Formats: sequence, structure tokens, C-alpha cells
Amino acid sequence: MDNKHTTELSGRIQRLEPSATLLMSAKVRELKAQGVDVISLSLGETDFFTPDVIKAAAKKAIDDNYSFYSPVAGYPELKKAVCHKFKRDNNLTYEPSQIVVSTGAKNSIYNVMQVLVDAGDEVLIPAPYWVSYVEIVKLAEGTPVVMPTSIKTNYKITPEQLEKAITPRTKAIIYSSPSNPTGAVYTREELKALAAVFARHPHVFIISDEIYEHINFTAEGHTSIAEFPEVYPQTIVVNGLAKAYAMTGWRIGFIGAAQWIAKACENLQGQVTSGTNSVAQIAAVTALMADPKEIVKPMVGTFAARRELVLKGLSEIPGLKTDTPYGAFYAFPDISAYKGKSFGDVKINNSDDLCLYLLSEAHVGLVAGSSFGNDNCIRLSYAASEDTLREALRRIKEALAKLK
Ligand code: GLU
Repeated sequence: MDNKHTTELSGRIQRLEPSATLLMSAKVRELKAQGVDVISLSLGETDFFTPDVIKAAAKKAIDDNYSFYSPVAGYPELKKAVCHKFKRDNNLTYEPSQIVVSTGAKNSIYNVMQVLVDAGDEVLIPAPYWVSYVEIVKLAEGTPVVMPTSIKTNYKITPEQLEKAITPRTKAIIYSSPSNPTGAVYTREELKALAAVFARHPHVFIISDEIYEHINFTAEGHTSIAEFPEVYPQTIVVNGLAKAYAMTGWRIGFIGAAQWIAKACENLQGQVTSGTNSVAQIAAVTALMADPKEIVKPMVGTFAARRELVLKGLSEIPGLKTDTPYGAFYAFPDISAYKGKSFGDVKINNSDDLCLYLLSEAHVGLVAGSSFGNDNCIRLSYAASEDTLREALRRIKEALAKLK
């Protein structure tokens, strides 16, 4: 960037941290362009192609001339498909007027934060958290209130911790289950206990990011906190097609929320992006109406095998401590044993140093835990083939062994 003009930028942008996940993937791309054999385990993106039936629906949509502006909150047939998905997968009842389709779940979260949060409102964010939550709260001029968790509670908050964190200024909480970056999954019982606390504080909105819903390795499966009737009105469920349907680049996210919140998001979106990409929306109808057992299940099976491979590989690297992830496609090993160690003139003071070291020494791209609110860890995305993962683990092990 041209540093000369930095101070002319708005304060809002000067205070904004760039996305660490996207920065790391850009670094990896740059190195690859220079011909370096880099393995990227940085971005939360599957290596699968979008299923053929979804691609065929998009091709047909082009031929059917879906080339005009779409309704701001999404085509009626897509909103209906989203309602169908909520009923089928989550036993949640929403009317189409409660649905807003946006340009990815990230855009959905941004909209919700903009319409609910005023300057000075507190938003609770259990850590480790996804990199963009804090920045999206800051963009809404809210105050992020980070709630630390540790490996002792499997990186999950407890009802007692929640009760203590809520103040009259608390406007919302945002969390993901399954979690990016830890893979933690709240059980039905745990969500029930948290819902009991929220029900006592109806002024606290629950922004439940369920984008990894289908990538869940537990026998119990996914629960949405909105399933508890006592908190349904105060919950905004965020979901999308990127992860489960291998559609990251298509940018389709959506919310299910109280009608007045959905209407406000629609108004905001009408002034910012308008309705999202028309062709992608029609493809999304096919994706959501298909049987997830046919489209999503096979990919989840592959992730389960990769998870085993990664957990075993990480357990064979001295000094790393990894909590078992029960969902999503990330491992979040604790690397604190390597802090203070050096190789040549490189000293590891924090998780960023370690990620840069592993990028330059092992040619493996990972993301530092610091951006997820835990500097003792690093995030490894195992959305890559088993051969790639094996080679990455071999390189990481070798590079870490050089640190003394
Ligand atoms: N959510 C994914 C990740 O955490 C994609 C990149 C991003 O939007 O942050 O890697």
C-alpha cells in the first residue's frame, strides 16, 4: 500500500486488521507463483469440486437468462429452499420473510452486526474465534468482549462464564459451532444450559454461525441453539453453502432471524450489494433441495479419515498438544513448547513467528493462533488430500526439530 496516504484513510479502516486467513493464502499464492513447492493448509476451503448437479443447475440458469437483478433478499424459490433446509436439517420453522440471502456467510454476519450494534454496544466473542468476528464488530463501532477458553473446557464457554460476562451493555454474542478454528462442537446439553442463561437476558442476541454444520464427526450430530424455543426469537442463525457443498467461490450465505431483523438486513443490503449473484442463487436452490446424504455425506467421510491422519501425525510431533476437533476441518495444536526457541537467527516469540518460520523453512502455509485470539496455537486446515497432509506433517516435524 502507498503509505504516504495512510492517514487520509478513515479511522475505521486504519483500525481494521486485514484478514489473517486471506493474507496467509495470498502469501502462499505468491510463493507458488515464484515456483516454490508450498503446501497450503491455511485457508478453510475444501479441495473438492462443486458437485455436478449444482454446476448443471448454474449452467441452465445462465441459459434461462437469470442475468437480471434478483430481489434484494434473494429469489423466492431460494428463500423457500432455505426454509426447507432449516426444517429438514434443524427442525426450525422460518417463513421466507425471515430469510435473507447474502454474498457469503461473512456478508450475512456483517449485515447482522451493522443492523443490531451501535457505538459502544458490547458483543461477546468466545475465543478462539474466527478472525473476522472482532473486525466486523469494530466496523459496527461495537466493543468486542473476548471470553477466553482453554483446552481444559475443550475451548468452549460454560454457562457460569456466560452469566458473568453479560452486562446491561451486552447486545449480542457471536460464536461458531462446529468451531473455526478449534473444531469444538457444543453438545445439545451444553447448548440447552447456555440457552437457559440467554433466556434470562432477552436483550442479548445470539448470532449462531453454523457454516460447518454438516462437517460434524459426533454421533449426536449438529444442534442449533435456535431449536430451544425460549431463545428462538433472539437467535440469528447464519449458514451458507461454501463448506458443505464445496462452493466457497460462489458466495452464498443466508440468515434465519426474526422478521424485523431480516427486514433491516434487507434494507442495508439494498443500499450496499443488492441481491447476490443470480446464477449462484439458482444453483443454491438445487444444492439445498438435494439430499445431503448424497451430496454432503461422502465429503464428510473423507474429512473424517483426514482428521484421523492429522491427529495421529500431530501427536507424533514432540511438544504439540492438540484438542480433538469434533467438527469443521481444522486442527488447532498448542505450540507454546516452541516459544523462546531458535534456529539460526530466527527466534520464535509467538505464533506468528512460528507460522512464518514454517512457511519459509518447511514451505507449509498455516495460520497463527494470534488472529484467532489464542497466541499459543496455530491453525492447520486439513481440507487437503491425504498425501498432501502426510507430506506437510513430515515437513512440519522436520522443521520444528531444528528449533533449539
Ligand atoms: N472462513 C475460512 C477460513 O477461516 C475462509 C477464509 C475467510 O473468509 O476467513 O479460512
